[in-house]
Amino acid sequence: MYSHEKSQTLQTQAEDVILGGVNSPSRSYKAVGGGAPVVMDRGEGAHFYDVDGNRYIDYLAAYGPIITGHAHPRIHEAIAEQSSKGILYGAPTELEIDFANKIRDAIPSLERVRFVNSGTEAVMTTIRVARAYTSRNKILKFEGCYHGHSDLVLVAAGSGPSQLGTPDSAGVPKGVAEDVITVPFNDLEDFKTAISHFGDEIAAVLVEPIVGNFGIVEPMEGFLEAVNEIAHDNGSLVIYDEVITAFRFMYGGAQNLLGVEPDLTALGKIIGGGTPIGAYGGRRDIMESVAPLGPAYQAGTMAGNPLSMAAGIACLEVLEKPGVYSEMERLGGMLEDGLIELINKYSIKATINRLVGALTIYFTDETVTNYTMAEASDGEQFAKFFNGLIRRGINIAPSKYEAWFLTTEHTEEDIKETLSIVEDVFKNEF
Ligand code: PMP
Repeated sequence: MYSHEKSQTLQTQAEDVILGGVNSPSRSYKAVGGGAPVVMDRGEGAHFYDVDGNRYIDYLAAYGPIITGHAHPRIHEAIAEQSSKGILYGAPTELEIDFANKIRDAIPSLERVRFVNSGTEAVMTTIRVARAYTSRNKILKFEGCYHGHSDLVLVAAGSGPSQLGTPDSAGVPKGVAEDVITVPFNDLEDFKTAISHFGDEIAAVLVEPIVGNFGIVEPMEGFLEAVNEIAHDNGSLVIYDEVITAFRFMYGGAQNLLGVEPDLTALGKIIGGGTPIGAYGGRRDIMESVAPLGPAYQAGTMAGNPLSMAAGIACLEVLEKPGVYSEMERLGGMLEDGLIELINKYSIKATINRLVGALTIYFTDETVTNYTMAEASDGEQFAKFFNGLIRRGINIAPSKYEAWFLTTEHTEEDIKETLSIVEDVFKNEF
């Protein structure tokens, strides 16, 4: 069993200077019983090593971006080469054009693109653009879906469908939250009710086409098509938050995979190859609402920074090679089958949602199709599972709502080792 002595010591030091000891609350182990988060030393492919010298098979992938594994040589070289020529210019580069073209080639609905620096910024700006374009104020989002930490999307579900939101965070003015309507994912009836109730006040419907933030949850057959049609009939735009989903399941967006097109799309995570990035884009006439062409303002000192452009291009070059996603599908299937076998063998009450190289284990025997069901899964069982894994060499997110992510660097050996560790956890801790 691993010792985390040095991580503990560093966490104590961290808490003395960094608020809460972490720079993003999702890194804290609060939801899984506390304790110091494992402090990382270095990563290599699908593995990383903590400051105590322990090795882990990594399924966190930094919450999604590290799809080509840690310290991928192509990405490392691209960053090193660019940094030798300068890190930031505050003037356009050819890299930005190359990268924007690469993204548009992969996701054609992005007729015009803008780069920003985080998923939060990307989503926040798509909402502003939609509001500017439609001259309407409200947005409709789906319960439990996380879209970054800007005011408007930090709104919890109302107690029932079609209710106006209440802020999910202190510091979000009530007035802001009143512009947000939340309905359950995969529930067309509630969606229709909300649209008919708030009608011409709704600027946009914001949706993760495949949910990645209360585990991996796919849309039911016809759901997204109906959302598009109803929203458009209502004069509202459709925004896809593809911060997690783009390039996760195939070379392109979930919109390519599912065959439905939004008006605007927000991107982030994978497209930066691990560097800070966000991007948004969509229909040309809508995007032309943005400065310098239009009245909606968005800017950024770091926007389109050369390091992120170079890393992003290198990452997409790795991903566009034939066979990359079919291998993640093969290994993902192997992992899922193995986990199901163990769940059955040890009579664990758990279910798995998986798509290609992303999966979530929910400690419930119900099939999870919306947030309420994910919320109802057993957090104590998950905490036991998480703590068992982290002490034996598997790193997943310390939250029952997050997914496991495979990378291009995971191998059959990793999957086999993972399954034997999971078996050890089920056998000894459940
Ligand atoms: N949208 C989705 C779907 C996300 O998963 C996230 C981050 N987990 C964001 C937006 C915000 O991205 P960032 O953390 O880069 O600001």
